[in-house]
Parts: sequence; C-alpha cells; structure tokens
Amino acid sequence: MYLLDIIPLAKIPHTLPQILSYFSGQAKLGQSPAQRGNQTLSIGALVQIPLGRRKEKGIIIGARDIADSKMEIKSANFELRNVNKIISLEPVLTKQQIELALFLGQYYFCSPGIFAKMSLPPKNTPACHPDPAVAGEGSRANARPKFQTLILTPTISRAHSSYESSSSDNSVLWHSELTQKQKNATWLAVKIGQAQTIIGTRSAVFLPFTNLKKIIIEDKTNPNHKSWDMFPHYDSRLIAQKLAKILKSKITFSDKSHALRLREIIPVIIDMREELKGGNFSIFSVDLYEAVKNALTANQQIILFINRRGLANFILCRDCGYVAKCQNCDAPLAHHLINSRPALLCHHCGTKEISPKTCPKCKSWRIKTVGSGSQKVEAETKKFFPDAKILRLDSDSAPKPKDQQKIIADFVAKKADILIATQTIFSWLAELSAAKPQVIGLLSADTLLHIPDFRSGERTFQTIRALQSLRNNAPRPIKGVRHSGFKVPDTLTVSAPLTQRGVGGFFIQTYNPNNSVLKYIRNNDYEGFIKEDMATRQALNYPPFSQIVKLTFRHRDANKAGQEAKILAEKLKNIISNPSPQSIIPAPHQVRGKLRRESETYSSLSVRGGWEGFNPGPGFRVHRSGRPGKPDMTTDGHTNTVELSPALPAFLPREKGKFVWNIIIKFKIENLKLKIGNEFLQHRNSLLQYVPQNWEIDVDPENLL
Ligand SMILES: [Zn+2]
Ligand SMILES: [Zn+2]
Repeated sequence: MYLLDIIPLAKIPHTLPQILSYFSGQAKLGQSPAQRGNQTLSIGALVQIPLGRRKEKGIIIGARDIADSKMEIKSANFELRNVNKIISLEPVLTKQQIELALFLGQYYFCSPGIFAKMSLPPKNTPACHPDPAVAGEGSRANARPKFQTLILTPTISRAHSSYESSSSDNSVLWHSELTQKQKNATWLAVKIGQAQTIIGTRSAVFLPFTNLKKIIIEDKTNPNHKSWDMFPHYDSRLIAQKLAKILKSKITFSDKSHALRLREIIPVIIDMREELKGGNFSIFSVDLYEAVKNALTANQQIILFINRRGLANFILCRDCGYVAKCQNCDAPLAHHLINSRPALLCHHCGTKEISPKTCPKCKSWRIKTVGSGSQKVEAETKKFFPDAKILRLDSDSAPKPKDQQKIIADFVAKKADILIATQTIFSWLAELSAAKPQVIGLLSADTLLHIPDFRSGERTFQTIRALQSLRNNAPRPIKGVRHSGFKVPDTLTVSAPLTQRGVGGFFIQTYNPNNSVLKYIRNNDYEGFIKEDMATRQALNYPPFSQIVKLTFRHRDANKAGQEAKILAEKLKNIISNPSPQSIIPAPHQVRGKLRRESETYSSLSVRGGWEGFNPGPGFRVHRSGRPGKPDMTTDGHTNTVELSPALPAFLPREKGKFVWNIIIKFKIENLKLKIGNEFLQHRNSLLQYVPQNWEIDVDPENLL
C-alpha cells in the first residue's frame, strides 16, 4: 500500500487543505514512466479520487510507502480513502507545471488544482504521451528539441498579426478562440518540441513547454495581459516571470510604442472650453478641423481616436433629466447604430433596446444624446468632410481580427483618407507603422483622464504616447503652408490661435488643459510624469508600494449585498487589530511531508455561506519590524502593513442584475527589492482565509472600481 499526495483538479474552499492524501494499493511511484508494466506511477500522473460525495480528477505530486507513515495514520483523526482509479499512469503535467500551479494557488489564493487543470491537454488530444526519448526530461543531447520561444501578446488580433509576420516555419498560434482541433495540434506541437515559436495570448503560459529558453512579452502595460474578465484573475506577465525562473529562461519585454523615438512631435493641446465660448459645438476644434482639411487637400492621411464605441455615451431628457439605463446594470445605455437603426446597447451585459423617440417618463421630444462614440465621430466627420473616404475601426465594425487586419491594410494602402479608431487600434501599431498619417487627433482626452482609478494617469500617458508614435513616420509638415483658402463651415467660428492652423500634427482636445498629465505630455516629459506618479503612489500606498487585493460581493438583493459587505469589512478590521496569539499556519498547500486531511472530512468541514460559525483558529505573525508582541496589521494609518477600505458600492453599483460591493485591501510592501515572496504571501493569506467562499478575490486587480 502506498500513500499518495494528490492535488484535486477542483475548487476547494480555501479554509481547507488543498493537497489531500489517499491510499493506493495498485501502484508505487517510480522515477521513469517506462516501468509501466509494473504499474509504476510518475509524478504528474492522473487519477480519479473521491472528494466528499463527488468524484474528481487529481494529479499525483508525491507518494510514500504506507509502512513509513503508520504512526501518522494511527494518530490522525480522520480516515483515509482509496484512489478510485488511475486514469493515466504517465504524467499529464510536467514537474514545472505542478510547481507553477502550487505557486499560483498561493499567490492568487485559490485552489492550485484550478491552475493544474488549465495546464492539462485539451480534450481528446491524441497521443499526449510522446516518446520520452524525444520530449521527456531524460532526452539525450542529440535528440533534444530545439529552443522554444514564447511570445505573449495582449490580444488575439495582436497574436494573429505576430503569427502572420513570423518568419519561422515552426511557429504555432494559441488563444481561446481556436477550434478544438487547432488547440490539439498546437498543444501537441509544443509538447513534442516541434513548435519553436509559440505566439499566444495569456493562457499560452500554461502550455507544456519542452525547452523554453526565451519569453517575450509584447506591450507589457496592456491590461489585457491580466485575466480581468474571467476567473481565476491571473496575470500572464507574473506567470511568465515565474515560468522564466522555474525553466531558467530569458524574459524580455517589447514595447513598440515606447521603443520608437518620438521625433519632434510636440502635441497641440486644445482647450475645448474656448471652442464652446466661440460658439463651436462640434466635435472638431477649429485647429483640428483645418489640419484635417489641409491634409485631405494635400492627399495625406488622418487618424482620429476616440476611446468609446457607439454613437453617444447616453441619452438624456432635457426636460425631466431622464437617462436611459440598462434594466440589469446600473449603467446608462449607449446609443448605437445597429443594422443602420438607432438602438440602445448596454456595454456591460449586451442588452439591446429600441431607442425612444420621446422621453418614456415625461413624453418630451427634447430627448438628446450626450457625449460621442466612434459611430458619432464617423457621422460627424462625414458631415464635415463629405468627399473623404473614411474607415472605422472598433469592435462593432470589425469584431474579428481578420476584419480589423483588412481595415488596417486598406488604410496603409491609402485606400482611405481618414481612420476613426477606438482602443482596437493599439493591437495594430506595428502594421500601422507603415502608414504616414499627417494628422492625429485625440478627440477627447477627458474620457481617458476621468476614470477614477489610480492608474488612469499612467494609462492616459501610455495611450497618448502610443498615438504619438503613429505620427512618427509622417512626412515633416511643409513649413510656410498655412491657410489654404478653404471655407470654414458656418458651424465653426474661428477663435483659436492660428499657431498650428493648417499644419499637420498631433492634436489633443480637452476641457481640462491644465491637468497635470497633460502638462507632462506637452513637455514630452515621461520621466517627470513617472516621478510625480510614483511619489503620489507612495504617499497613498498604491502599487508598487503595496499589493492590492480586491474583494467583491454580488447579490440580487440590495440590502443583503450591502449588509454582507459591511459585516466582512468589520470582521476583517477586528482580525487585523486583534490578531489571535497563535502563530500563523502556513497556507494549506504549503504543508509538505505531512499527512493531508482525508477527503471524507472534507464535506463535514466545508464552510458554507461564510465565516459565521467558523472558528478563526490561526492568528497573525508579528512582523519582524513591529514591536514585540504587537501586531503590525492595523487599519488606522499609512505606516502599517495592512490598509483596509470600508465596504463600498462598486463604481457600477449594479451589474447584470446583481448589486456589487467591494472591499479594497492594501498590503504594504516594506522592501521593494525583495518583491513578493513566500513570507509575504503567507502573511497575506492568513488574513484572506477569513473571506467567505461566495466572495470574489482579485489579487492585483486591474482597477479598483
Ligand atoms: Zn423626460
Ligand atoms: Zn446591462
């Protein structure tokens, strides 16, 4: 008989051990899968185990002869159960994949089995056990597969364009929208070492690399590297760094927009308040209008950027103040043109409604659209420049990478004069570098600046830099060419200074020209901006000076949602200020070489509905820098290790029919050079243990909204 240590491939409540022990009479653990005749198992083998009343799959990560653990088994207050059956004697995960899954379980405070599951071969992969002489760890030098390179891209479209421009014959593509067949082929090619360049989005980090020597992260500041929209909320950049450490591979970042030298492109910042005063109510300032007109006359190209899709941000009744909102979300419905009919669309849940002609509340006809999106910009541009050929690039006009690529290719081939684009454009910066737009217009910097998040300044800066880089290839403006005799339409009153009139450039329109981010932009002072941004973050304890964990609770009942959130916030506050005297317990999956709690106990121990009735056993470690006997987790200031926000309704207080509440925790990082290590995570997790199962835990959230 043997004792096997197994990671169940399932979500297990975080108050319980994540590695479980089982008996197995059939097999012992061997070094090589070649001994399969004797039913020898390897680390990484796949089994079926009983888990409570369920049956789950599990991965073997260790084994001992039962004779060595007799005392331990006798003194345990639970019974051990048998493994149901062995599904695969040979490993389905490599040792590195197991190590990674265990680390990620600890880092993201979720079951390592969830990550192990993500590393499994896709369904029905034929022959997922290649000959070990070719791909296994014991392979000889002459049979060794060639070096592998992983290129991580933030978006699927970016992956496609990198794949198509890849010169290597042995390149493969990986992302969530591949067919099952394509996934199988890629997975296998990576596993047997046939694939040399692997280009993929975030989940590519879970592929079974055989000889990964290099990882390249494209556009590293792009938030899409994080799984912000799906559980588990992992960050592929962090995983890539861990992977590089485990596999001893090199990691580099390629940042196309930052790498470009921004040649003499001083942006023109246009005060839209002045335009209003001058009677210009259009989306174009006079300066931008004239620059566009002049570029068109000179047969040159223009890019107009707006970071919202649709026609308008929302519709508002001027008489009673009614705003059309989504039935499921507390968000205004955006005004769109769907199949050339005006309609209302919720950007959060996709609900569509017919656009009302009169106010549903007071029947007034004065129901008006507010703000503009890419469709509105297109319509307005057509109005002002009826002869210009216009292309629009957003997720409505081009939902698929192929469609987007076509639009970009057409623009580069000068089949159009004006490209109106949303953020989608940033997936195609490399392709666009072949274009030479004379004018770039950021129609509203305010929609970037006004996102209430500590990263909005940084993101605005990055967006502007990326747009600025597009202007890099433009022909130099012809000096002396000014007003070229076209007529300014009646809707535009000339009031802006004539400095840039008629000359190409990079135009930023804003109602807040004195914003500090724009100040640095104006001076092209990236270092200055970073310095100020870092000082602010340090003062307010934001990353990188802390690690943020966002706790989210959703419920259909408004009262229940708020109440639950307030109760947990109060509970956490008490735990932080009155830690129990016992020493910290390590995270469950950190226990090694000990008998794991048997799964029978699992069902009786599971804590349903939260911490009520659960005895908070472990206390908190007294931080070494703290005074002896005094906890360092307190809520009352910035100098302490943990900072806890009160329970707060989310920025979008109701989403998809549920009320949303957040609690933000900042765990201060005392020594930036040490980064986030094991001790930090244990300390942090000892608090997170008290968060009930029905809460969502997001480590390093992309926003705090
Ligand atoms: Zn009304
Ligand atoms: Zn909605």
